[in-house]
Amino acid sequence: MGEILGREGFCIRPILGLPKSRGIIMLKLTNVHNHPYIDPQLLLHPDVKALVKGIKVALEVGNTSAFINNFGAEFYDKPLPGCTAEMYGSDCYWVCYVRHMSTTFYHLTGGCKMTTASDSYGVVDHTLRVREAGGLRVVDASITPFITNVNTNAPIIMIAEKGSDMAKQKWKRAAVSWHQLTYLSFPHGFVYLSSGHPHCNIYSDCQINPEDAHDRCVDFNL
Ligand SMILES: Cc1cc2nc3c(=O)[nH]c(=O)nc-3n(C[C@H](O)[C@H](O)[C@H](O)COP(=O)(O)OP(=O)(O)OC[C@H]3O[C@@H](n4cnc5c(N)ncnc54)[C@H](O)[C@@H]3O)c2cc1C
Repeated sequence: MGEILGREGFCIRPILGLPKSRGIIMLKLTNVHNHPYIDPQLLLHPDVKALVKGIKVALEVGNTSAFINNFGAEFYDKPLPGCTAEMYGSDCYWVCYVRHMSTTFYHLTGGCKMTTASDSYGVVDHTLRVREAGGLRVVDASITPFITNVNTNAPIIMIAEKGSDMAKQKWKRAAVSWHQLTYLSFPHGFVYLSSGHPHCNIYSDCQINPEDAHDRCVDFNL
């Protein structure tokens, strides 16, 4: 590496925007304080092949007259330590290179995916509510059923905007004004409310402390 230190250079970096490899997340124990088992299972076979193809395209681009004649470009072709057993430039060499040199983009997604009810691996529904766990939404990168092409940040901001809109909408619908309510007093000072409001009409849905609440309705079912 010493011979190229301080010299001008460029690099072409093939990126796998839509990897086919799928990782796994498994619970090790039923104790929630235990970390799960996570194996990203990176670089399963088709992905390696795609990256090798990308390297070949990069080599072709670097070998065009535009790069060679205009910039005097030449590849740094010292064999990678660890891959010297393979013939330099062969497919096996590039497979070895990919397995040694690849990095992740940290675009972790899909651990908590949104799917239809028939998918036993689905976790949240189309409104991001966790199935069979009323009152809980997941709003982050994990809900995407598959990875978006390349960068994840912008799509996740979109998911967050949509998720917050849905939650606000739900609360707005659930808000019950005083005049709609029938009060049932209990000795501990809280009032459980029953109202004609379509989204807030059973006792367990609504709990309001009359001291500080006016239009507040806690909707446990989100
Ligand atoms: C090094 C790196 C570089 C990246 N570069 C890019 C890029 O250039 N472009 C791009 O589009 N994407 C990039 N990404 C990916 C992008 O940042 C993520 O996909 C995105 O931020 C994920 O959003 P999220 O809301 O799902 O999770 P996060 O952004 O990770 O947010 C999770 C939040 O939850 C908090 N949290 C965690 N545990 C708890 C807890 N127990 N209680 C309360 N809060 C908790 C964390 O502090 C954090 O604020 C990069 C990621 C990394 C790691």
